[in-house]
Amino acid sequence: MSLLITHGQLFTLGQRNELIPDGAIYVEGDTIVEIGPTASLAAKYPRAGRLDAGGQIVLPGSLCGHTHFYGAFARGMAIPGAPATNFVEILERLWWKLDRALFWEDVRYSALICLADAIRHGTTTLIDHHASPNAIDGSLDVIADAVKEAGLRASLCYEVTDRNGEEGAQAGITENVRFLKRCARERDPQLAASFGLHAALTLSDKTLEACVAAAAGLPPARGDERGVGFHIHVAEGIADQNESLRKYNMRVVERLQKFGILGPNTLAVHCVHLDSYEKDILRETGTLVTHQPRSNMNNAVGLPDVAGLLKRGVTVALGNDGFSNNMFEEMKAAYLAHKHNSGDPRAMPGDVVMQMAYANNAIVAGRFFEKPVGELSVGAYADIIFLDYAPPTPLNPGNLPWHIIFGVDGAHVTHTIASGKVLMKDRRLTTLDEAAIMAKARELAVGVWKRI
Ligand SMILES: [Zn+2]
Repeated sequence: MSLLITHGQLFTLGQRNELIPDGAIYVEGDTIVEIGPTASLAAKYPRAGRLDAGGQIVLPGSLCGHTHFYGAFARGMAIPGAPATNFVEILERLWWKLDRALFWEDVRYSALICLADAIRHGTTTLIDHHASPNAIDGSLDVIADAVKEAGLRASLCYEVTDRNGEEGAQAGITENVRFLKRCARERDPQLAASFGLHAALTLSDKTLEACVAAAAGLPPARGDERGVGFHIHVAEGIADQNESLRKYNMRVVERLQKFGILGPNTLAVHCVHLDSYEKDILRETGTLVTHQPRSNMNNAVGLPDVAGLLKRGVTVALGNDGFSNNMFEEMKAAYLAHKHNSGDPRAMPGDVVMQMAYANNAIVAGRFFEKPVGELSVGAYADIIFLDYAPPTPLNPGNLPWHIIFGVDGAHVTHTIASGKVLMKDRRLTTLDEAAIMAKARELAVGVWKRI
């Protein structure tokens, strides 16, 4: 299958970071084969199926470094009881009730809602962290089926935790191991796996040991030498540090390092409450960090020292923690939150936001997937979006970050292409029946809310 995209204003991002004003992209299978002016590519590939971008902005698909497909049914839900006064209460009153209320069909539709949302807003690669304590065994297969149906690319894991007893923790370990083996066996370019852990706060020494033992000897993502990576929330709220100091006389990152959880294939999510020693450990171990400013603001947990981490050379990528899969929104939030929080308008410049959203998320995705993402380049996955955005001022690769922050929105996305396949054409989804998914989800949500 070949596809020639013509007449786009191409912003390549990546190393080249170039604007091709009347640009074309030639795609074979799931990969970009050539990029150049429309006139020359149209002459070179006369037989390729054509897709005319009509002068729209063409960008690589957005990337999400950390999300929770299981959280979709929380939208619009009234949380019973008095409002939560801190982060642990938010976990106890909302998320730890919601995940227990999910049965098999809920897991599937919760994922489909998020995947449809991702296609609609041009997000083509997502790193998910799943929990459904009453439907564990096989849950990652259910989500993987939904990912394949949607046509997107995702890395999945199951969050191991002690909050559902020893049996629940063991079931989570088994599910990670099973799915990691499946991904290593199948080498599906759209699916990958990591070893999910909830947070240090809900994991005993015994369970951490069991996870590391289970991960040892498993084939790592992409077959590199660095072993299976973990995907864990780190010091999201201050309670994570307080518990760690009280129970283990160690800070969270120190404790994770002691057990061998950290490393270049591990994703440390949030990292809000770290001291400088812990930030140094993240650098030394090459651990990846993801930042979710909308979630941090919503939970009132504070913000991580992104500038300090980046300055050390830590890769900090951008996730959404289950907020909408409109990554342009997350970029805006990152840009604003750090300025407001620090009282310094120089904090979190637009190009740094862009670096987290594209280049650094691409590094994260590179731990899981074979070919590059987050850029339009020869050899990269053909993950491409069109945006119907008419800039009121000059637009060039240098000022694109500020157009994204102050002008572009996910609602401008008209076409989403992933792995060379058109998943949304003129704002109509081609792989998923969005109306049917939402109708069924509304039915299922009644049951989920009742169980909560
Ligand atoms: Zn999360």
